Amino acid sequence: MKVELENLFSIDESSQDQVIKVYNRYGIFVGAPEIRKRNLKASFNPIFTLNDDVTYEHVAALYKSLEHELGIVSIGERFYFDFSDSEYEQASLFTLNSAGNSPDMFIDDKGTLFSLSTHCQHCGLMEKEQLSPLVIDTTEMKDRHLVHVSGYWVASQELATLMKQEDIKGFELLEVIHQGPGEGKRKAFQIIPTQVLPESSTERVKLYFATEQPPCRCGLSGVINGPDTYHREDLTNIKNDIFLSAEWSHDGRYLYRKTLFSRKFRELIIKNNISREVRGEKDRNFGPKDWLFDPVLLK
Ligand SMILES: [Zn+2]
Repeated sequence: MKVELENLFSIDESSQDQVIKVYNRYGIFVGAPEIRKRNLKASFNPIFTLNDDVTYEHVAALYKSLEHELGIVSIGERFYFDFSDSEYEQASLFTLNSAGNSPDMFIDDKGTLFSLSTHCQHCGLMEKEQLSPLVIDTTEMKDRHLVHVSGYWVASQELATLMKQEDIKGFELLEVIHQGPGEGKRKAFQIIPTQVLPESSTERVKLYFATEQPPCRCGLSGVINGPDTYHREDLTNIKNDIFLSAEWSHDGRYLYRKTLFSRKFRELIIKNNISREVRGEKDRNFGPKDWLFDPVLLK
């Protein structure tokens, strides 16, 4: 697994050589940028690999130099985790990071009952406990088999039936409550995993954005978690297909536990043409309805 960092900023085209020189000085060889002209500015999007030679500390120092020498201040950052083919082929579990490269996969909650409590006084992250079935406008699912509703996965009737037929284990289904137009409404089911995985490995990569505030002391806000990573011996005897992680994830406001899926589940989705096989968000295949499964790593 490679960690790649993309920088996004605009420069005057005439200064591109100077910008490249600053990168090179920090041991980052970005080559000639693909300059996309917009007005008189050009956008510069170098992507490079972080490793023992190019650490995040180098990058933070690089940003200071870009600011002091060239006046470049607002640098966008985006991380990519790039997996090898053998990591896809050997993984027994996968993290489902997306059910489509499209905002349509996110459906708004229309009034589910939750009890809320503050998890962290410093950043204000909240814990929520679900007290009623999810309430959504199911007409918004259209022909999608899986949508995301504030941290939870909701399956179509067809997908729920397929999962039972193929003997997928380790979950319960809770029918959602439809709220919205009667025409085009559908049956849909929240997938509720019944087993929590052991704690993940402390070797999991953790990153943060040098251009933003430092991570909160709770270890959640401001931290960008790398791929899910487990101790090999903790996953050797697992039997089910769907699990919750022991650790919290969050959406910036609320905590939730991430759902992980087995290799069998991923193969089922691909075999039944629900999604094409996609490897990483830079995969050219990644379309509006393709699911993005990242392999879980073992240490
Ligand atoms: Zn916090």
